[in-house]
Amino acid sequence: MDFESERTQMVRDLRRMGIKDERVLAAMAKVPRERFVRDEDVDVAYGDHALGIPEGQTISQPYVVARMTELLQVEPAHHVLEVGTGSGYQAAVLAELAHDVVTVERHVPLADRASALLAELGYENVKVIAGDASIGYPPDAPYDRILVTAASPGIAPELVRQCAPDGRIVAPVGDQEMQHLVVRYPDGRESRHGAVKFVPLRGRAGFL
Ligand code: SAM
Repeated sequence: MDFESERTQMVRDLRRMGIKDERVLAAMAKVPRERFVRDEDVDVAYGDHALGIPEGQTISQPYVVARMTELLQVEPAHHVLEVGTGSGYQAAVLAELAHDVVTVERHVPLADRASALLAELGYENVKVIAGDASIGYPPDAPYDRILVTAASPGIAPELVRQCAPDGRIVAPVGDQEMQHLVVRYPDGRESRHGAVKFVPLRGRAGFL
């Protein structure tokens, strides 16, 4: 398959769907999404849908990755935390935009696979940690940006404490059936964006 053409078409579609941030579009034009999906899904890697990955988890659809990344407003000097590594795809997109990314995954096999793949693809500015990050990852705090990529009952106070004073947090907040993308700004305000459906955040500040 001609993955480069598929990627170009995906970016064209994202633009048509309203993604405006050229840096986000350029990042998604670079990351080889086909490497992050299961072998049997390689031919549908660039369709605008979530796909299953091992451990019953998912890689999010391109539009949701693009929209969350756009809402996060990552700058080149930023130190970023991602909660929920999954396949590692979103971490790679963030790594194209940020100074460095710490990404945490509770399923050890997923963390191991993402870590090996990101290293193989040359993403030296991503650190993958295995563990529960529902309450963040204090050792590397504070973060300029925090992105949660699993359905969350709320934005945990621990995450707020680990975010830099001028930082922002983006998370899908709601119940296990449906969530809205929420942006938490430095002044404590929150804005709500489109409806999404993510697999649940587990752990101390997640769903049981
Ligand atoms: N960002 C991922 C990607 O690009 O493939 C997709 C993330 S998937 C929708 C959600 C991930 O969050 C799952 O892999 C799940 O195991 C992980 N997760 C759920 N609760 C977690 C927790 N408390 N700490 C770390 N990871 C968690």
